[in-house]
Amino acid sequence: MWNKRIGIDLGTATTLIYVHGKGIVLNEPSVVAITKGTNKVLAIGREAREMIGKTPEYIVAHRPLKDGVIDDYDITRKMLTYFIQRVCGKGIIKPDIVICIPSGGTEVEKRAVLDAAYHAGARKAYLIEEPMAAALGAGLDISEPSGSLVIDIGGGTTDIAVLSLGGVVVSQTVRVGGDKMDDHLVRHLRKKFNLMIGERTAEVLKIEIGAAMLPDEEVTARVKGRDLVSGLPKAISITSTEIYKCLSEPLSAIVDAARIVLEHTPPELAADIGEKGICLTGGGALLRGLDEMITKALGTPAYVAEEPVSCVALGAGKVLDNLKSLRDGFLYTKGRNG
Ligand code: ADP
Ligand code: MG
Repeated sequence: MWNKRIGIDLGTATTLIYVHGKGIVLNEPSVVAITKGTNKVLAIGREAREMIGKTPEYIVAHRPLKDGVIDDYDITRKMLTYFIQRVCGKGIIKPDIVICIPSGGTEVEKRAVLDAAYHAGARKAYLIEEPMAAALGAGLDISEPSGSLVIDIGGGTTDIAVLSLGGVVVSQTVRVGGDKMDDHLVRHLRKKFNLMIGERTAEVLKIEIGAAMLPDEEVTARVKGRDLVSGLPKAISITSTEIYKCLSEPLSAIVDAARIVLEHTPPELAADIGEKGICLTGGGALLRGLDEMITKALGTPAYVAEEPVSCVALGAGKVLDNLKSLRDGFLYTKGRNG
């Protein structure tokens, strides 16, 4: 009988877990609420995220992964353990786990993720580079000798990678993603309207009326926050054009990085990419007009993958379903006994 096999997308914003034979069974924010000083965990996941910006001072809602790497090892481990136990139960059968890491992670970072998986109860843990998982999850055939370009726009980072023959040929990770876009909105509202808003409010604003292209039809949203001068609650109206302008700076950072990756791509593979197009994954790919903007900026057609948020977890799932490939050096592996 097969051991329980699960695939984990440990993202800066969201953690997803795929269970072999079942599909994606868990999709939770990568957030942990802890008490200051004692570091006691109060809530994990959705419940913890609801606390962001709303907690009394002694409780902090913490995102243990920053910029695509583990920022707080202890809390990451607790979060991972909690999610794995929720999916697998506390039984004696330990799962085999495929877990995604950003490409270009250091050996120390890889070891930290593997250790976290073992501490969380893995029998065996394997790492797969995130762009590879994203491409597999998006349905690209990366085993062929043909180039594919994937841009995965997450919360903390954007991973850009050219893949061919089951490996990463050129890649770059930039510390610009959805969070940076939210930051820009927060700063703009503070500067222009003297209005303080929280990061959750900024994110909702971005999702509701944000766009990467100048919107055809102007939409207006009400934003509530606190007036910096009077200290009292205040609401203002903001247009989609204004938000579009706010987002242009973080978006150009992503485009610039993609351009550099393309410039370093061998010509044959670049030609394949020109033909197949650029595949966009991650939550950030859902920003309105992003595909169109990237298409224009890079002169190569870009399209959003079918389920952009789930691609990485689905890709990890595909690897699990063909566990043989794990033994082909496709992934880094470390068994319990070496
Ligand atoms: P990670 O892999 O880092 O966990 P995700 O791939 O889950 O990140 O993407 C999270 C980011 O996607 C967040 O910054 C979130 O605000 C953004 N996002 C999610 N949905 C949308 C949307 N509809 N429009 C724009 N951004 C979105
Ligand atoms: Mg991700």
